Amino acid sequence: MSLANGRSHLAIPGPSIMPDRVLQAMHQPAPNIYEGALVELTFGLVPDLKRVAQTEHHVAMYIANGHGVWDASLANTIAAGEKVLVPSCGRFGHGWAETAKARGIEVELIDFGKRSPMDLEVVARSLEADKDHKIKAVLVTHVDTASSVLNDVPAMRKLLDDLNHPAMLFADCVASMGCDRFEMDAWGVDLAITASQKGLMTPPGMGFVFFSPKAKEARDRLGVIPKYWDWQERAFPEMFYQFFGGTAPTHHLFALREALNMMNEEGMEAIWRRHDVLARALWAACDAWGVGGPLELNIDNPAHRSRAVTALRIGSPHGTALRDWVAANAGVTLGIGLGMAEPGDPAFHGFFRVGHMGHLNAHGMLGTIGVIEAGLQALSIPHGGGAVAAAAEVIAKG
Ligand SMILES: *Cc1c(COP(=O)(O)O)cnc(C)c1O
Repeated sequence: MSLANGRSHLAIPGPSIMPDRVLQAMHQPAPNIYEGALVELTFGLVPDLKRVAQTEHHVAMYIANGHGVWDASLANTIAAGEKVLVPSCGRFGHGWAETAKARGIEVELIDFGKRSPMDLEVVARSLEADKDHKIKAVLVTHVDTASSVLNDVPAMRKLLDDLNHPAMLFADCVASMGCDRFEMDAWGVDLAITASQKGLMTPPGMGFVFFSPKAKEARDRLGVIPKYWDWQERAFPEMFYQFFGGTAPTHHLFALREALNMMNEEGMEAIWRRHDVLARALWAACDAWGVGGPLELNIDNPAHRSRAVTALRIGSPHGTALRDWVAANAGVTLGIGLGMAEPGDPAFHGFFRVGHMGHLNAHGMLGTIGVIEAGLQALSIPHGGGAVAAAAEVIAKG
């Protein structure tokens, strides 16, 4: 017998759960793309997207996923042969670095492993050694979705300022935006990227590049910019088609409009607060389970953990067994461990992740925690008691 029938629950770190309002907003015929409601709707997205990123600067929208805006961000700012510094704390930091290398950009990658945030003293050494200011940008992954580490972006800004280093500060906020606090302008970020399918609760397929006047100047100095990636017309369109360099992603726009309506209704402070409480509820449960068994949070220090995703270690084969059990018996899909071990390696089965980004409330989080508890029991994986109560206590305190 399975207890999975009923509404399924997706607890992976993207795509995230799509709200019914977002789903329903897409249920309409193809619109006119030359004039009328869609044109107005699209112009109206711009201020709301900027509010989510906490910026007064510019935004370019792309029909692309996160990998696409990794490329777009670099195509507009860094020429082949120029250099970037990438402090990497998991699979996604490496991904942005690989994207840069493939553009002929020189990459200095500092690998901080999979269990800790960037160490700014180590980053400082690279910046200090760069006397001729060859490094044009520092590419920081705000939240690395594989390790679930949260990096301190304002501290990186302060380091650049203290060292008087002119490199731009770029932030990958694909996982974090709309989940973990992020304030582009207040934090002195020159360029931030995100995608539609995580905190923005919209289907995968749109990407966003937010850029400051300094990043805009970098673009204006570049000789060659691939036409499709060029953000100039997208951010400052004179004709509607220029927003997307061709046909607009009509139904994504309907979805995004509704998602942003929901975010406006809740407000950014409340959104960040909700993610914080729900994440802490999960961590409290994990701490309790860990007392009596192998389950362990990948990131030790709560100050270095994301509020959007939590990576867990539980030993092989428990990770895969638990994921399979909760999917088959409880209707909950948990995330695989990413970048922790190769898929062919038995160790691969010792990890899982819980996505808690976007459209998630207390019962969604408590339900996920409850079914993990049931899975641990059903599979006889040793674990400490009191986990569900510990999570409920965090929710009760709010
Ligand atoms: C999801 C994610 C990406 C990649 O996004 P795709 O849409 O899968 O290409 C990049 N960076 C981070 C931090 C992410 O979480």
